Amino acid sequence: MSEKDRTPKNIGPNTQLVRAGYDPFDYHGFINPPTVRASTVLFPDAGVMETHNQKYTYATRGTPTTDALCQAVNELEGAAGTIIVPSGLAAVTLAFLAYLSPGDHALIVDSVYGNVRHFCDTMLARFGVEVEYYDPSIGAAIESLLKQNTKLVHLEAPGSNTFEMQDVPAIAAAAHRQGAVVTMDNTWATPLYFRPLDFGVDVSIQAATKYPAGHSDILLGTVSANAEHWKRLRQANGALGICGAPDDAYQVLRGLRTMGVRLERHQSSALEIARWLEARGDVSRVLYPALPSFPGHEIWKRDFKGASGVFSFVLAVARREEFKAKAQAFLNGLALFGLGYSWGGFPSLALHVDLGDRRILQAPEKGPVLRLHIGLEDVNDLKTDLERGFTAAKAS
Ligand SMILES: *Cc1c(COP(=O)(O)O)cnc(C)c1O
Repeated sequence: MSEKDRTPKNIGPNTQLVRAGYDPFDYHGFINPPTVRASTVLFPDAGVMETHNQKYTYATRGTPTTDALCQAVNELEGAAGTIIVPSGLAAVTLAFLAYLSPGDHALIVDSVYGNVRHFCDTMLARFGVEVEYYDPSIGAAIESLLKQNTKLVHLEAPGSNTFEMQDVPAIAAAAHRQGAVVTMDNTWATPLYFRPLDFGVDVSIQAATKYPAGHSDILLGTVSANAEHWKRLRQANGALGICGAPDDAYQVLRGLRTMGVRLERHQSSALEIARWLEARGDVSRVLYPALPSFPGHEIWKRDFKGASGVFSFVLAVARREEFKAKAQAFLNGLALFGLGYSWGGFPSLALHVDLGDRRILQAPEKGPVLRLHIGLEDVNDLKTDLERGFTAAKAS
């Protein structure tokens, strides 16, 4: 009997993370799958080569290692199929290329990941796709923005850097009435804390670079589609030849096994620090959906099972001319938080958020926005470190 046949039904999320995607008895009982590095796959004879009647044909179309990860993500997302691509950004751009054509109209949430906006404003515009940004809080009123040629509605919740929540089921229902495909960047929550396809989304996208990889050393993206939209996604992936590498797939699958416990720690430390920040006089606001004071909190509570470890706060600074200097002084005062892009790895990170590209949403007026990724360090050490930042900002 194989490991898979032995797996009971109705298992919990951490049990699922431990078992998803790969059956050790497919490879002599070894717990992890082999890393199959490949381009060529041999055929036993010319007849099989002609018909492609074997599981693997060429490595751009998958290997046992990439399949193990895709299968695991399918199980976690509840998807019909998953592709992997070399970065989270490529996961979003590939999904857009799969479903959009010249003359189409696409609705993109205004709190979208910044590099996706750049893709929309440059390459999609060049390919004749009309892109319109919408307010993340729009909900069912997105109806009024839908046109005859609206072919794609893209969500990201919580939004990048400012963490606005979205009413996913309401937006998806309206988009579907118009026949548009609904894509969602679910990097913040991971399928452990939110499963987009269960809420009406057609295509769920993750920067696996973040929590699935978990160690700040891998770039990878996943795109998972429901049955209706899987074929077109798979065709686009084949046409573009943008495929994830087996070594990276191996590492991400390895990362998934511990993602549940890591997320629990990220969540509890982030929540503790967010509450601690909120109570301070030198903080104007904390932007974190898990806090009851946050405008999207009710939606978060309704739809999400947890919160991850990245959020922002507004440093209280009276004069706009001082925003940048105070933010930089704060960051320069930190010793444990690293200054760097991305998040989801074990170390804590901080940066000064630039909201200059927003079309609809306004940047907070009461001070600069600082984003924190709360890593796996001891939470008291992180508080002490943030205290260093506040002291440095005050002294500047
Ligand atoms: C980081 C991130 C991406 C891009 O992932 P990369 O692997 O760094 O390209 C996409 N979407 C969101 C929401 C992200 O946070």
